[in-house]
Amino acid sequence: MIELKNLSCSYENRTVLQNISLQIPEHISILGPNGSGKSTLAKAICQLIEYQGTIELDAKNIATYNAKQRAKKIAYIPTKLEFYDEFLSLEEFVLLGRFPHKQSFIDYDESDRNIAKCHIDMFSLSKLATHPLRSLSSGEMALGLIAQALTQESSIIIFDEPTANLDPKNAQIIAHHIKQLKQTHQTILITHDLHLAHFIDNPVLFLKEKQAHYFEKNFFNDATLSSLYDVSIQSLAVQYA
Ligand code: ADP
Ligand code: MG
Repeated sequence: MIELKNLSCSYENRTVLQNISLQIPEHISILGPNGSGKSTLAKAICQLIEYQGTIELDAKNIATYNAKQRAKKIAYIPTKLEFYDEFLSLEEFVLLGRFPHKQSFIDYDESDRNIAKCHIDMFSLSKLATHPLRSLSSGEMALGLIAQALTQESSIIIFDEPTANLDPKNAQIIAHHIKQLKQTHQTILITHDLHLAHFIDNPVLFLKEKQAHYFEKNFFNDATLSSLYDVSIQSLAVQYA
């Protein structure tokens, strides 16, 4: 369970999120215009940036967890990898998900390799296992990122715009995986994809102008969406069902 207490985030004196307090439910979708602070909130939760206020994980200040303890609890899946070793193979990349459970990078054993392989197979990536990351398509890489996060075996998974670079078919595959993962993991879904958010059907935290607006339900109606996004939205189509 994650709880935000008077959380504020700023970059160079520009405040992006101001004084947000919220007990995050088991599953949540975080929506809001570009630049409203969605990734900033995820990075604060993962201790990747500085902030004011407190974030609690299981009733304990998350800043008191060390990186490996935190990684056993939370996996963050970025939209795409900005920096990586381009010669790393997909299977080596997925295996890195075991690192929080290990003393060093040379510690991986048979059971770690089996856990990684199981998730490579789960996403039908076995034919690509030995391929270098740089040779993968956006859709294959998106699946590889999820495979690595599952290999990490954390209880909470944060998806940051998981369908942003995907064609409709891969977006649909990812949507169904996320929905299924709700049965075994706590999920935080950051997205602009209203069809995806509608399909995943989590309560919504809408970020806008430094503030957070929480919708337990009744978010996906044209009037609410049009008012929040400041553009006319009509008859949200159900794309992923
Ligand atoms: P979102 O994910 O909702 O699109 P972000 O959380 O990435 O938005 O960014 C929120 C605001 O903070 C944006 O205006 C962005 O330009 C700014 N920002 C994000 N990261 C940095 C950074 N490292 N340094 C300065 N400003 C940043
Ligand atoms: Mg973002």
